[in-house]
Amino acid sequence: MQPVHGLHHITAIAGPAQENLDFYAGVLGMRLVKRSINQDDPGTYHLFYADAEGHPGTDLTFFPWAQMAPPRMGHGLAVEVALEVPRDSLSWWAGRLQKYGATLDRVTSRFGDSVLPLVDVHGMRLALVESVRPLSRRFEPWSGGPIPAERQIRGLYGAQIWERDAAPTETFLTSALGFQRLATEDGWTRWGFADAPGVVDIRETPDARRGAWGVGCVHHLAWSVADDPHQLAVRAQVEASGGRATPVIDRFWFKSVYFKEPGGVLFEIATEGPGFAVDEDPQHLGETLVLPPWYEPARAEIERVLPRLTVPVAAAHENR
Ligand code: ZN
Repeated sequence: MQPVHGLHHITAIAGPAQENLDFYAGVLGMRLVKRSINQDDPGTYHLFYADAEGHPGTDLTFFPWAQMAPPRMGHGLAVEVALEVPRDSLSWWAGRLQKYGATLDRVTSRFGDSVLPLVDVHGMRLALVESVRPLSRRFEPWSGGPIPAERQIRGLYGAQIWERDAAPTETFLTSALGFQRLATEDGWTRWGFADAPGVVDIRETPDARRGAWGVGCVHHLAWSVADDPHQLAVRAQVEASGGRATPVIDRFWFKSVYFKEPGGVLFEIATEGPGFAVDEDPQHLGETLVLPPWYEPARAEIERVLPRLTVPVAAAHENR
């Protein structure tokens, strides 16, 4: 059994692209590290937000599908994304988010962590987490954004998912991906890794409806693998555990395999490399539209249908 190396990225569905950019780059201060298109729907953007260098484990990405209806929250869906922030920064973040009109819940405790739940500009549920067990993670602060380095979001922390029946999912997490059961609290069971960031909190919701995607919900959770052989080994574990995995798909910045876990949540395994600097100067990530080479012949047509985007200009470390 070869475990995955924690979270690689999380992808969600957003409303209008500019509003998404204003919130994640302008308010949360993440760096737009790649401005590309959905490779399966090239008339729409795929926007990637991360730390300064786009390290695996820091990356939250969006398909802005503004025409889509809101999601139907229910089982088989990831219902919240958690982002890790430095210790003793939640009250600072609450003040900043209030200033920008975000919908906040009260700070709460989960598994010993301090957690600030909030809702993003398109209704997606987020949580900022001060972890009691900070794991070593690759993180490079982004000096071009509005947030001082000591407050910046450190990366992905995990996700909550609802399942009609948790047992098959939990068996699959263990046998296919190498998760460990970490704790149980208030009807949630936390799964994760001893040495890598990325938890999945599972709640059984037998009376909920089947969930369905929409604007403001998670599309998939991607788990990290080191390289091609690791990816093929995990892919084989997925199939041996009853999952139906796609072939390896070259996403250019990493290679991907997709499958659904038994409860229906879409998962991906993605290679750590080659990374976002493979086709752009690391100093200028995300400034222009990047297309996979096979879409370059259609660039003029693609640019014509995509809305124009303006990266919010940060007042130098505002609200410090
Ligand atoms: Zn993905």
